[in-house]
Amino acid sequence: MQDQEIQKLKAELSSPKKIVIVPHKSPDGDAVGSITALYGYLKKGNHQVSMISPNDFPSFLSWLTYSEDILNYEQTRDESDKLIATADFIFILDHNAFHRAGDMEKPLSAANATFVMIDHHQQPDDFATYMYSDTSMSSTCEMMYHFLDKMKALDTIDPAMATSLYTGILTDTGSFKYRSTTSTTLRVAADLVDKGAESEAINRKIYDVNTPSRMKLLGVALNNLTVLPELRTAFITLTQEELDDNNFQKGDTEGFVNYALSLNDIVFAQIFIEKKDESIIKTSLRSKGDFDVNQMAREHWNGGGHKNAAGGRSELNMEETKAKLILILRDYEKALQGTQI
Ligand code: 5GP
Ligand code: MN
Repeated sequence: MQDQEIQKLKAELSSPKKIVIVPHKSPDGDAVGSITALYGYLKKGNHQVSMISPNDFPSFLSWLTYSEDILNYEQTRDESDKLIATADFIFILDHNAFHRAGDMEKPLSAANATFVMIDHHQQPDDFATYMYSDTSMSSTCEMMYHFLDKMKALDTIDPAMATSLYTGILTDTGSFKYRSTTSTTLRVAADLVDKGAESEAINRKIYDVNTPSRMKLLGVALNNLTVLPELRTAFITLTQEELDDNNFQKGDTEGFVNYALSLNDIVFAQIFIEKKDESIIKTSLRSKGDFDVNQMAREHWNGGGHKNAAGGRSELNMEETKAKLILILRDYEKALQGTQI
């Protein structure tokens, strides 16, 4: 966003407005962190603000301040449709295309509001009047900090907002491990600590949430690990039956794919998780170095994301999906073997 646009947006937000904030479907730490931080900021401007999530968010984030105010679209369709239809502004955070908001795609497409997008995914759609899109950013939460900086509003960051923003940066950078973690990311995180984010407590609340059934499910996932050393690939499958047998709760499989990627000399990892109620297999792709899984997810798995972390889906059954993967990998053999890590 240019300075001029920031000034214009700031002027428009100087009087109370009706505002809706929307994360992507199945929101993660970055999505919930960025919407709750923005909500905290806009509340201070006396706006009438609502957060509407396309579906429920994982329970490991429910301790975040304001997360209790997030409306679940699946349970509040009429109320939410009205809020969307009458909004002056709609902030689209941590995604850049209406279809990533699931069933909210239709009401969002029909809305008369001014759209503001803050996002770090590739290939944004062209619907936002105010667009802050930067694929080099670690997280939408880091962008939210820079956005508040541009709005000359860093002093509005209270401990709750700092905690939300720190949470999103922490989760989207794999605890400051991924290449997207720059010196600026670390400076932003440090400033958030100064503003009241408690690093140890946040880490504990986010990561020390294992349940015995999640541990057992991880055991099943690791048991199902297939390694293809000649393709520097490792993948994991989980069927609906395996999930059911281990009392699967939303968010339980978060991070499982990283075990596959952590294998020595593996540059590409994928997990396939059956979702019988939607008749799909949800998949997550992860890579190291320059091996691009965003392109692969777009081309073959009806999805997308970032170069090193993407997601998508398969409408085939598990056996057919595995066969499809093996077929796809043939085309990537050279790229996989040539990837420097
Ligand atoms: P995850 O594998 O953790 O669900 O997602 C990894 C990254 O890919 C995230 O940045 C997420 O927003 C993106 N992503 C996940 N699923 C999809 C999908 O179905 N479509 C698109 N376009 N992106 C996805
Ligand atoms: Mn993100």
